[in-house]
Amino acid sequence: MKVLVIGGGAREHALCRSLSLDPDVSALYCAPGNAGIAEVAELRPVDALDGAAVAALATELGADLVVVGPEAPLVAGVGDAVRAAGIPVFGPSAQAAQLEGSKAFAKDVMAAAGVPTARSYVCTTAEEVDEALDAFGAPYVVKDDGLAAGKGVVVTEDRAAARAHALACDRVVIEEYLDGPEVSLFAITDGVTVLPLQPAQDFKRALDGDEGPNTGGMGAYSPLPWADPKLVDEVMALVLQPTVDELRRRGTPFSGLLYAGLAITSRGTRVIEFNARFGDPETQVVLARLRTPLASVLLNAARGTLDAEPPLSWRDDAAVTVVIASHNYPETPRTGDPIEGLAEVAAQDAPDAYVLHAGTRREGDAVVSAGGRVLSVTATGSDLAQAREKAYKAVSRIKLDGSQHRTDIAAKAAEGR
Ligand code: AMP
Repeated sequence: MKVLVIGGGAREHALCRSLSLDPDVSALYCAPGNAGIAEVAELRPVDALDGAAVAALATELGADLVVVGPEAPLVAGVGDAVRAAGIPVFGPSAQAAQLEGSKAFAKDVMAAAGVPTARSYVCTTAEEVDEALDAFGAPYVVKDDGLAAGKGVVVTEDRAAARAHALACDRVVIEEYLDGPEVSLFAITDGVTVLPLQPAQDFKRALDGDEGPNTGGMGAYSPLPWADPKLVDEVMALVLQPTVDELRRRGTPFSGLLYAGLAITSRGTRVIEFNARFGDPETQVVLARLRTPLASVLLNAARGTLDAEPPLSWRDDAAVTVVIASHNYPETPRTGDPIEGLAEVAAQDAPDAYVLHAGTRREGDAVVSAGGRVLSVTATGSDLAQAREKAYKAVSRIKLDGSQHRTDIAAKAAEGR
């Protein structure tokens, strides 16, 4: 099978790594990729947002499957363009991707499907904003309706800050605050059949102790020793299958990766958000634990024949990923700094720990930072404590001037707290 992966972050590196280890995959391409992906796939310098260019590339390569990683190309219709060229795509149509692209659309689908979520109002005027803020009280949760790479959400006790964020957006969703720990649960679907993956938890805040600004994600781990073993079955029945069924009923079936961001609240499990693609950095830990080869599962989802797949098989190992971000991430990340220590990790920590690249590029013999999140250092171990230790050992070998990472990824879970 020839596979083309679209994107160039650590999520796509994790996908490419798994696909490169899959005996069904005879050729692997990635557009645009990054310096790490170049070691497992052939890179093509195509703009991931240009549907016509991606479709032309997939045709030229004779790709049997195109896997679209990030949300922006999906919302821009890249999946539709490739499908129109007759090539199976893992990733939803632009219409179905509105589940992530518009918070208001997602709320509408959840209401129709009876999926538990925070009560909310969609607001476009200052009067509506004030009414909604007063209706829920503090802490305030204000979400930009459009795509904002996880950064359009403000959760604050400060009414003035909540109001200011709301008024800076064209359309906002203001909703009830959900307490309790968060879980990311992914499912692969062809629009009818739903195959859940294992749950993971990510760390959205920049600093230790969940302080600092929201980011794209600073680390993740799986499994979740503290979670109810019935969680996956519960979310399948209450959230994933009803959502997939509702989108099919509307004539906009969702195929690809359905990501449920959940809050395990004192009043039960609630959906915080849906995403229409693999989460980054949770994918790094979920794929590290997946034993089933990935390619045929993704192809069956793309073709609408997922019912042919047996349930997924998982390693007993735990996995932890720690994101190394550049100086001043997330505000004004500095790029162009050389990265050292990659060869040392490969020589001393593999195969249990390895470095997945996010914002990197090659400059001559050097690998330099090229984005906010630079590397995702991933490790597996017999339990979370061991996976953590291996991940942080590998992190300590990486030298990147001014870089930052959290030191508490999976710490509480590893201690059974
Ligand atoms: P989202 O982009 O909707 O995932 O929101 C980003 C982050 O904001 C989530 O991961 C939560 O940490 C937080 N958040 C979003 N909605 C709520 C809510 N209703 N209650 C509490 N926290 C929330």
